[in-house]
Amino acid sequence: MQPNNNTPPRRFSRPNRLGRSFNLQDTYPCPVCRNGTVQSMVMMETLSCSFCRHIFSADLSLQTLQVEDTLPKSSWIWNRDRWITRTSRDSDLTYLVWFTSAFLIIIPASMIGLPAYVFPPIGGLQLNSFSIVWAEMTLGIHSLIAVWLLVEHYQLPTYVAAKITIDRTIEQLKDRIKNQFSIQ
Ligand SMILES: [Zn+2]
Repeated sequence: MQPNNNTPPRRFSRPNRLGRSFNLQDTYPCPVCRNGTVQSMVMMETLSCSFCRHIFSADLSLQTLQVEDTLPKSSWIWNRDRWITRTSRDSDLTYLVWFTSAFLIIIPASMIGLPAYVFPPIGGLQLNSFSIVWAEMTLGIHSLIAVWLLVEHYQLPTYVAAKITIDRTIEQLKDRIKNQFSIQ
């Protein structure tokens, strides 16, 4: 039997990868979106995800993977089975995100709601008073913005996957519309 000189196919199945040290030949689950697979790019020392397209750099001596195209740059260590989050995120940025989120939730709604309690309208303050409804709407909308800010900062895998799926669906729809117009 002739020896096969071709490069071996990329290993993907879990049993092959299980227990193996991190290397540039195997593929790995993406630690960002947890939907795609991370593998090294051709002729490059970087890796990319097949689903979220994030770019990673590898340090094989430390067995770590670091995402390069987002801030803060998170990194993970391969424990021969799965990725373990290695670094805490940039603490200054994390404080800023939490401070901004708290500010958005507390201050605008308070600025609308508190004057209504301090200076109630003639006839008393009702639950359906304009200022109370306005304060509740402000609280709801600003809370949504704060949640979005936190989810974006922590890049929750479900959120990342959903965002990419929506982007791709929109792109497909655009292509379909473009094709329909070009046929006519
Ligand atoms: Zn990914």
